[in-house]
Amino acid sequence: MDYQELLEQIEADIAPLIGSGTPAEYIPALASVEPRQFGMAIADLDGKVHGVGDWRTAFSAQSITKVFALALALAEGGDSLWERVGREPSGNPFNSLVQLEYENGIPRNPFINAGALVVTDRLQTLTGDASSELLKFLQEESGNPDVAFDAEVATSEQENGDRNAALAHFMASYGNLDNPVPALLDHYFWQCSIELTCADLALAARFLARHGLRADGSRLLTRSEAKQVNAVMLTCGTYDAAGEFAYRVGLPGKSGVGGGIVAVVPGLCTLAVWSPGLDAQGNSVAGVAALDRFTTLTGLSVF
Ligand code: GLN
Repeated sequence: MDYQELLEQIEADIAPLIGSGTPAEYIPALASVEPRQFGMAIADLDGKVHGVGDWRTAFSAQSITKVFALALALAEGGDSLWERVGREPSGNPFNSLVQLEYENGIPRNPFINAGALVVTDRLQTLTGDASSELLKFLQEESGNPDVAFDAEVATSEQENGDRNAALAHFMASYGNLDNPVPALLDHYFWQCSIELTCADLALAARFLARHGLRADGSRLLTRSEAKQVNAVMLTCGTYDAAGEFAYRVGLPGKSGVGGGIVAVVPGLCTLAVWSPGLDAQGNSVAGVAALDRFTTLTGLSVF
């Protein structure tokens, strides 16, 4: 398949959507990003990357980091994580509090904020420095030492972090966190602030297409664990739009409110797309459309 030609076709097809939707407004540092940007990259299993548009422009990874945090927590600590976080779609917004009380402080899945806080808490206990471990992993897998924290975004989230603080304190009241809430929130906000490009993201996610194997050939996850992470991405990776995303795209995917989405074609390639305008569920409008075009034009999906 000629990936370059395919990407150019996709970019042309979705061009009318670039700039639609709204950048995340509840994090002021993200609200000021120019919305008329679009980039897309495809990495094959050997690390060859193709891209179009703004595929080399760094953007805020936000919730996309939740996939990498989950993979690291499973790799370091194994299955006991699932005693503290579920793996069912929430059907609720990513920062919702309501289910947590009914379900005794156990978040529905690792990709809503409450679940991600539990995963980061676990990673912090396992490694002693969750956000740095995550950054190191992304730098190594992308081969780019410039993948970095964005202090302005982390501070902006910290200053507007009441909702995440509420989720963390609420779970702490059920004994579902090991670390003090302020330290955990710090790691979570630094984690979310990591900026990378579509090329970096597509490369860094390759272990999910390589059935758990890292870029250097070493094993991060068992084949079964890689399948499990992909399955949770498919069912929960785009919040309360996961059903619609599965319907339109048919691939495991994880979005973030920075406007990025990573998607996986197991055994073949990874895709990263970025455009800051979001829909009501917090997913990139042009990004979802581009992935929809990818699977429609190629016939590739997990179905
Ligand atoms: N940092 C964001 C938050 O905690 C991440 C949310 C997202 O990308 N959906 O609200």
